[in-house]
Amino acid sequence: MRIVTGGIAQETNTFQWQPTTLADFSRPGFGTLVRGQEILDLEGTGTVYGGAVAEAKRLGVELIPTTYGTVMPGGRVSREAFDLLRDEIVAGIDAAMPVDGVFLVLHGAMALEDHDDAEGRLLAAVRSVVGPDVPIVSPLDLHTNLSDEMMAISDGFVGYKEYPHTDMPNTAIEALRILVSAIRGEAKPEMAYVRLPLIAPNQSMVTTWQSPLKIAIDRARELEALPGVLSATVLGGFPFADVPFAGVATIVVTDNDLALAQQYADELATICWERRADFTIHPMKIEAAIAEATAGEENSVYVLADISDSGASGTAGDGTEILRGLIAANARSAAVAQIMDADAVAACIAAGVGSEVTLTVGGKHDRLHGDPVEITGMVKLIHEGSFLIGGVMGSGTVSSRGRTVVVEIGGRGGIELQLTEYRGHPHDLNFFRAFGIEPTQRRMLVLKSAAHFRAAFEPIATNVIEIDAPGISSPKLETFDYVRLRRPIYPLDAEASWSQSS
Ligand SMILES: [Zn+2]
Repeated sequence: MRIVTGGIAQETNTFQWQPTTLADFSRPGFGTLVRGQEILDLEGTGTVYGGAVAEAKRLGVELIPTTYGTVMPGGRVSREAFDLLRDEIVAGIDAAMPVDGVFLVLHGAMALEDHDDAEGRLLAAVRSVVGPDVPIVSPLDLHTNLSDEMMAISDGFVGYKEYPHTDMPNTAIEALRILVSAIRGEAKPEMAYVRLPLIAPNQSMVTTWQSPLKIAIDRARELEALPGVLSATVLGGFPFADVPFAGVATIVVTDNDLALAQQYADELATICWERRADFTIHPMKIEAAIAEATAGEENSVYVLADISDSGASGTAGDGTEILRGLIAANARSAAVAQIMDADAVAACIAAGVGSEVTLTVGGKHDRLHGDPVEITGMVKLIHEGSFLIGGVMGSGTVSSRGRTVVVEIGGRGGIELQLTEYRGHPHDLNFFRAFGIEPTQRRMLVLKSAAHFRAAFEPIATNVIEIDAPGISSPKLETFDYVRLRRPIYPLDAEASWSQSS
């Protein structure tokens, strides 16, 4: 059995003005652009291919690699980048023909500079090469914005069930099994979906507590244990994308029973719709959060989550409001990961380790993440920036935010601020440890992350506080200027309504 594979995976925040380019895909530690054997070499990592490659071996099927590109979430993807990757994937499939199936890796919320539905475009291109009869199956991110075209072209989707996404390898394994069973004629996948008139903030989709989405996902797991159900998926959607089809959706794949698939997709959608008011998030004011952390017991660790400037949601990465609050409060034992400011990094490197610097940092990328803030401190560390991910999510992969410096503000035991060339996604303890900061021994850890930090940091945290600061991953969806999103939609429009079809 010959299964061809490749894909493009990026999550697009359309409120980010800066496009995502081919250079971003190609920058080590920021993007991953791999071809041929390099794809198969991802076996064993905490990624989609980490699971798929091992499972293909176990099932005794040949996985023929083409091209795979993934990159840090950000602005709309340039046509140059998308067209090049799509053309390589299509050419690779064409060269491999005849094939029995396609395992196409997608994110689900990628938008192009001139088109809202990149996954639909890629699926259409792949379908045109393999014809109508070769099955195409894909794993999807939990933050997929599901389009009608994606559903019309694909034979099977399986979404992540964990946020933080600790189940990427397992989701890929499930998707590959459905594809193989379809090729072998052991099952005939029939797929139904519901897209609700509902957008929800990412922070309400977390599965480390009984979030409203988690309640539906728990039911999806039960459905998957029932006869005839191949997979059941609840997608939270990605609300920081102004595209018509953004929002919460459900997908159920059954063995040759479309009516049953629709019935269960409706059931999962009903669970989400009935809880729509529970998707609201109530972040805490900065001053109150710092006061609570400062008053904490000895050896306690408080995560102050900068959920509105989340690297994993494509924001500026240079939001300043929490840092401003720390300085105003003369905070002690605080570590900040991180503020993107290439000019400040260059200035610190020019000054040298041990030098005192006075700089204006952050707040420069756009006008949506707080104003620049002046700091005075000592350059404590200069680092080229790359390090190995040690936790479950993305284990075995290398991350880099470009050249990185640590500036110590307020002397020893004060505020340790990481300044980076590029924005990052601090979801792993090594975002501190690689730079000489032991996170279990700091009172306050500031993380630019909406939720992915929880996998690694909840186990070491006394408390996690979601901070109310400005940014384009804010849970306050009513503050976003949606133009292309379909309306009416909850919670923006009181008249939004939905009733199940089956
Ligand atoms: Zn996601």
